[in-house]
Amino acid sequence: MNHGQQLIKENNEKLLFKLVREHTTLSRADLKRLTGLSPTTVSSLADDLIAKGLFIETGIKEVKSSGRKATLMEIKPDGGYFICADVGKKITTVECLDLNFKVTRHFETETTNLLTLAEKIKNTILSFASKPDTNVIGVVIGVSAIVKHSRIISSSSLLNTEGADEFVEILSTALEGVPFYLQSDSNMKAYAETIQDKNLKDIISIDIDDGVGAGILLKGRIFSGHDGAAGEFGHMSIDINGPVCTCGNKGCLEPMISIPAIVKRAHELDPSIENFSQIVCNTDKFHGLICEIAEYLSYGIINLANLFNPQEIVIIGPITRLGDTFLEHVREFTYPRLTLNQAKISYSTVPGNPVTVGCAKYAFDHILI
Ligand SMILES: [Zn+2]
Repeated sequence: MNHGQQLIKENNEKLLFKLVREHTTLSRADLKRLTGLSPTTVSSLADDLIAKGLFIETGIKEVKSSGRKATLMEIKPDGGYFICADVGKKITTVECLDLNFKVTRHFETETTNLLTLAEKIKNTILSFASKPDTNVIGVVIGVSAIVKHSRIISSSSLLNTEGADEFVEILSTALEGVPFYLQSDSNMKAYAETIQDKNLKDIISIDIDDGVGAGILLKGRIFSGHDGAAGEFGHMSIDINGPVCTCGNKGCLEPMISIPAIVKRAHELDPSIENFSQIVCNTDKFHGLICEIAEYLSYGIINLANLFNPQEIVIIGPITRLGDTFLEHVREFTYPRLTLNQAKISYSTVPGNPVTVGCAKYAFDHILI
């Protein structure tokens, strides 16, 4: 088979994989109808995917028109695995996820300097991959940082980026020949939203934690800007007379609605408040403050919605611990002012670690289909 034929075969295999993923189960006849490929080609491709362990035959259905029986196929969950990491400010998580995005192995460690961390993540990747019958499809690392071209950590307000190039070098070569991607955690959190709704293509996830960031997906693709720095939602100004931010601008959202900013404001109202949990346990007492935060956030959301016209804006992170009341306040402030579009605002419902789930879904979409 020459290079051109090999490429066509790979693309056809990806097409079959995509269709079976979308429909859950399909027969060879269904695949022939949906792709327009010849029965021989479809059968040969399906046999190859079964041989590779990616498809499994699961049952038989009767074809009404002919009365003949057709074998159904679906994706074999343990036919391949993604090894994904979430490098957070304090904790780094490495997980192995199957083709249904179910976590099969989990490892957690403190986030230390990047060189020590790279060795720990590398050893975990090698340990996960060494388990018999573990076909590793891809390795994806999500980091709390601005990432350029899926490969370079350019800066981070949360991590010490010393040794960043070596960190990437060590991990990108951990498993020789296996596709490797580096992504910002904010973008992976947004990407994770697509596992539950395949029609969700234009989505913005807003992460409110120690910092405030956003991941933006447009037409199903990550929008990271010219050199990876898009989505700095925390530095969107909503008040030209507001406090001066670390970025030099005035009235940025981060110093107004990040978790440390909320705790600081609550502490000014009640000096006994020292952490966010105390606010979560006393939402009635801090109702005025919570409304104020919801209003500030809504101005940012309206700006985003008017700029990008997303289907959905998803809120994620510790802020969601304020519960449905906070979400309702955000909606009450936002919806009447969203006169030009109809973006839906919700909390994220992605199960598990949204960064590793997003990394796995990213690998699935960029390697398998
Ligand atoms: Zn700022």
